[in-house]
Amino acid sequence: MEWLPPNWCPSVVVIDIDGTITDGKKHLSTEAVQALRKLDDAGIPVVLATGNVRPVTYGLWRFLGLSAPMCCENGGVIWHPSWDQPMLRATAAEAKEAAQWLAGEIDGLDPNGIATNRWRESEWCLFPYENLQAVTAAMATGPWPHLSVVRTGFAIHLMEPHLSKGEGLKVLFDRMGWSVDDALCVGDAPNDLPMFDLLHWSVAVGGAFDAVAQAADVVSPHPHGATFPPLVDAILARRTGDEA
Ligand SMILES: [Mg+2]
Repeated sequence: MEWLPPNWCPSVVVIDIDGTITDGKKHLSTEAVQALRKLDDAGIPVVLATGNVRPVTYGLWRFLGLSAPMCCENGGVIWHPSWDQPMLRATAAEAKEAAQWLAGEIDGLDPNGIATNRWRESEWCLFPYENLQAVTAAMATGPWPHLSVVRTGFAIHLMEPHLSKGEGLKVLFDRMGWSVDDALCVGDAPNDLPMFDLLHWSVAVGGAFDAVAQAADVVSPHPHGATFPPLVDAILARRTGDEA
C-alpha cells in the first residue's frame, strides 16, 4: 500500500490522540506507542494535536517520550514544557461565566460541567447530556453571543469560534519555524479536518468518521493505533532511501 505521495517524506508528524492512537474505549494502542517512539528517536518530531487539556496531554507526551510542542484543547493551548508559559489563544473566563449564567437560565444545568474543566484554559465544557437546544438558544440572546456552542461525543463546548487544531498548529509551526508542506497528520474525527486542510498529507485511521476518511489523502486499512507500525516503517524507509 502507498502511504506517502511520490518523492516526499514528512519531517514532522502530527497525531490526534482519542480514536487515533486509542480505540473507541480510549485504550492506548501499545503498538502505536512503540512506533511513535521510533519516529521521534529517528529525529522526526511527533506533535500531539488533541482536544485534551494540557495536564492530560503532557502526561501522555512524557510517557511516550516525545520532544515536540503540544497542541491542546483543539488549538486553544500551545505548549512545550521548556516554555515558561503556554501560548493561550483564548480565555476560559468568559465561557466559565457563561456556564454560571446558563445555570440560572436553564433548570438543572450543572455549571461545573465535566471533570477536566478544572484544568481547562481556553474554553468550558458542559456535560454532553445537557439540553443542547436550550443552551444554544440562551447563548444566542445572552451576554456572550460570540461564543460557539459545539457538541462532541464527550461534552458541549462553550468556546471562541476561531479555535481549531488547524489554527493552533499554524501558531505552533510558526513558532518552531516549520513548514506545513513538510508535515503529515493522522486523525479520526471531524475536529481533525482543519489540520487535514492545513498540513501537506493526511491519513485517516481505520474506524474514522466517514467524512474524515473521505477528506484524507490516505485511509488506513488498519483500525486506530494499528495504523502506526506500517505507516512509521514507510516513513523511515522513505527517509533512508531504502525504498525501491
Ligand atoms: Mg480523535
